[in-house]
Amino acid sequence: MKKILDSLKNLKVVLFGAGGNGRITLEKLIDNGITPSYFVDNNRDITNIFGGRRIFSVNPPEVLLNEDKSNLKIIISSDWYEEIEAQIKEMGLGECLFSRNIKCCDWIIHILLGFQDDKIVFCCESSSDFNWDRPKFPYLDTAEETILNFLQKRETLIEELNNKSDIDIAKPCINCTRLREYDLFGDNKIKTISVSCYPSICQAKCIYCGVYTNPQNNFENAKHSHYPKMITEMILYLQKNNLIADNCLIIFTPAEITIMPHKDLLLDATAGYRAQFTTNGFVFEPKIADSLKKNGSDILVSLDSGTRTTFKLVKGLDLFEKTVDNLKRYRHYGKVKIKYNILSGVNDSDIDGIIDILKALNISYMNLSFEYHMPLRTAFYPIVKFVNRLKENGLSFAFYAYYSVHQIDNFIERYFTAEYQNEYEQKNDHLREVFRNEFINDYETYKQYVYHIEIRDLIKRFKKGTRFALLGLASLDNNIISTFQKLGVPLLTPNLPYNESYNAAKENADIFIIRNKAKFHDVKAYVESNGGDGKRLLDVEKYYYSFEPAKLFSERNIAEEYLK
Ligand code: SF4
Ligand code: SF4
Repeated sequence: MKKILDSLKNLKVVLFGAGGNGRITLEKLIDNGITPSYFVDNNRDITNIFGGRRIFSVNPPEVLLNEDKSNLKIIISSDWYEEIEAQIKEMGLGECLFSRNIKCCDWIIHILLGFQDDKIVFCCESSSDFNWDRPKFPYLDTAEETILNFLQKRETLIEELNNKSDIDIAKPCINCTRLREYDLFGDNKIKTISVSCYPSICQAKCIYCGVYTNPQNNFENAKHSHYPKMITEMILYLQKNNLIADNCLIIFTPAEITIMPHKDLLLDATAGYRAQFTTNGFVFEPKIADSLKKNGSDILVSLDSGTRTTFKLVKGLDLFEKTVDNLKRYRHYGKVKIKYNILSGVNDSDIDGIIDILKALNISYMNLSFEYHMPLRTAFYPIVKFVNRLKENGLSFAFYAYYSVHQIDNFIERYFTAEYQNEYEQKNDHLREVFRNEFINDYETYKQYVYHIEIRDLIKRFKKGTRFALLGLASLDNNIISTFQKLGVPLLTPNLPYNESYNAAKENADIFIIRNKAKFHDVKAYVESNGGDGKRLLDVEKYYYSFEPAKLFSERNIAEEYLK
């Protein structure tokens, strides 16, 4: 977003849409040092808007025809996005940006184009709480028809999720935990493309993989698959029509890209973009190495072993040395990520071998997982041991699995009996520490976890005894409430509209917490006009999205007197 905002600095910016969203967009632009020239709106009743200590005129759209198009950027700040975009196109005014507040999910927002087998999907299969029935659309006769259908269906999906039409396409989404409010700013281009081609072709026979056991995925079927060619045609169509963002990420998930039919076509078509290649590492592919070097791409290899014997046991092939050698070659070009799927009794004693490999590759970080069909009880102890050894060697990791923190808690309560603890010399507290604090069940939980840590660290920076209150927060803010509870820091007035919260707490609170970017300015104005001090407002929204360490104080200089 910052890049887009920076690109506006030397252009004449006009906002199309003078309603509530227009005002929010105006503040966002002013905050980022961009002053729009004026508004346009199809509604002739609004003539002026006040914001940023000045008055902006609201004109009919026809005035845009007098502007120098080469120097003009129109930002649609209206809920009638589709209609206005068509209107702008019809007026011959070129591409525009949009600014909208909508309910949807990360995948819809990043405009994931997920090619999977014979269909396009909207979200990643591992990220929708086992909601396998996610929105999907079959390939149509031509690349053009398929892509246009996808884009149109995506808009309909957003409309349905935002109560603008009856639920049809969005049926699989309505109870999805990924849904939330987004403050969107940018263009409408595809930002993530995920390529997953089945029938799958892969030389390995990993003991935890279901791919090669499916008769559909035999080599004969897979090597004649025409899907990679169709996908290439669709990507080329998108490129030709300027529908892919320059910073688009291409994700190659199984099948094995290095031996995929038509792989050269596919790799050539995507050669200009950053990519994540999931590969078994058996084959060194120069085009992948090139992408590591030129585009900052990375490869992810599930090595799952630290010795030749274990490798053969897990992967079904005697290619340990060759794979490690290929990883060294790839490492020479760029980023290599290693994943270790911990399999109790199979590869959990290879820890020293894998640590040596990580050191030889100069990699300090590893993705961990475990086979989720395995009973948790069997899996836990090897995981704890593994994790401890990594830590002793100064290596960090992220742990992905399909269990929620809540499930882990229940599990520890139920199964970690005194006998079990004695048997493994593990104490429940230690297990809790590893699994509650370091066990990451999925991307969304990971984000909540990071958010929790950041908010926790933020709160710890205040002097003991500082009194906090929440202003006008929504259901998602249970995260904040629980973080305060865990820290034992009292929090006043949760879950009331911000004006009621402020009035109820203004005599008793030092710091007011708000987690709603869109409303921050409204709340600030309200607090100031009611005799309050805006410096006591702490906007924690950015922590949720940014994933960045706390920077807020250096940016906003809030409430210095309460800091340690
Ligand atoms: S099922 Fe969930 S993650 Fe998938 S597109 Fe719908 S809202 Fe997004
Ligand atoms: S390398 Fe991947 S796709 Fe191939 S058998 Fe192993 S897990 Fe399955």
